[in-house]
Amino acid sequence: MQKIKTVKGTRDLLGNEIILHNHIIEKFVSLCNLFNFSQISTPILEYSEIFTKSLGLSSDIVSKEMYNFEDQGKDKLVLRPEGTAAIARAIITNSLEQDSNKFFYHGPMFRRERPQSGRLRQFHQVGIEYIGTNNFLSDLEVIILAEEFLKDLKIREKLVLEINSLGNEMIRKKYNESLKNYLEENITELSNLSKERLKKNPLRILDSKEKNDIKIVKGAPNIIDFLDDESKRMFEDLINGLEKLSINYNINKYLVRGLDYYNHTAFEYVTEEKKSQNTVLAGGRYNQLFASIGGKDLCGVGWAAGVERIEMQINELKTNDDKVCFFSTSKELDLEVLKIIAKLESINNIKMHFINSGNLKKKFSKANKIGSIGSFILGEDEWKIQKITWKDFSTGAQEMVELDNIHQFLIKNYLNKKKCR
Ligand code: ATP
Ligand code: MG
Repeated sequence: MQKIKTVKGTRDLLGNEIILHNHIIEKFVSLCNLFNFSQISTPILEYSEIFTKSLGLSSDIVSKEMYNFEDQGKDKLVLRPEGTAAIARAIITNSLEQDSNKFFYHGPMFRRERPQSGRLRQFHQVGIEYIGTNNFLSDLEVIILAEEFLKDLKIREKLVLEINSLGNEMIRKKYNESLKNYLEENITELSNLSKERLKKNPLRILDSKEKNDIKIVKGAPNIIDFLDDESKRMFEDLINGLEKLSINYNINKYLVRGLDYYNHTAFEYVTEEKKSQNTVLAGGRYNQLFASIGGKDLCGVGWAAGVERIEMQINELKTNDDKVCFFSTSKELDLEVLKIIAKLESINNIKMHFINSGNLKKKFSKANKIGSIGSFILGEDEWKIQKITWKDFSTGAQEMVELDNIHQFLIKNYLNKKKCR
């Protein structure tokens, strides 16, 4: 019989994978707290229009990747494909437009893409949004947070920060026209996909990974030449800031983000691999987003990173958890052992495991099999004097420990002895 499977492009998280996943989220959350960003959690279900109005009908997400459906009440809903538009919606819904807001979020996102390594239909993002300021210092602050996050995970040196300016809406319009003219002159050499995109969203062609397209794009006009004085100054201030802070970057004149709501700053942390899933963290400024979904004219800048793409950059996460087993020498004492465990206060990085079946030999071999560092064994004689035997599996040494003293004993002898992270 065929085994029951997960939905295509989705996966169960368990074992080492969920340990790594949680490790990434924990690093992210503690950094966001340090920088005084507040957590926000928006629903996975949203009205479709939140995304269709803001991301642009020709964006990949809206044109082909959204999980759209009509529910029994004829409401047009989507499984959220990304976080930023949902957070903008939440700011409007909760009347938070007056304040400057710094938010962080993490959770699953949904896009119906062709599943492959680093590209799932249910994937996870961590992200931040700095809303309510148009100051380049906010752009710089969100980039610093990205830098620190990637450094904490020890993957910063594997990535390159690419940065560009997309100017304002007017500039993009003018640039779009000039780009379209150029690409139309070279249309015969473009890939079929790019020919399609030329009709709806020529900017996306700059993103193409097709060899021929890349050749054509190299001769295309670039947006930096179209920037007005204000956009130029903003970009220069940001670049100066990166220099002063010794943050390595590359200006990539052809970096565009695939969504309509971006303007001015756009950036991506990419691996040097030349495949289409090489962007780990991406973001930029979005001063038109709020107006596009019916809110006030609010500015914002932020980024999102794919947790699965980060995972691919981390070779191995060694945990420093130690397991300690507990068992008795006879059935009559099993409940006493459970009572002892229940009373113990938790100790960082130490896990207690109660073995409740098998003869003594089996219990020992089970404790070994799960890789415990040792076992507490409760026998009749020890119980009478309110003690328990400790056996250290790495040395074979055995000793008696007072029942009231187990916690202290573990802390003194074993806590963080095997630091390996
Ligand atoms: P890509 O060009 O790889 O499709 P994107 O521009 O669609 O990325 P964003 O919408 O900017 O991606 O999302 C931010 C990050 O989320 C990406 O840089 C990537 O790390 C991650 N991401 C996006 N789509 C997926 C997916 N289908 N599976 C896994 N991670 C994803
Ligand atoms: Mg995409």
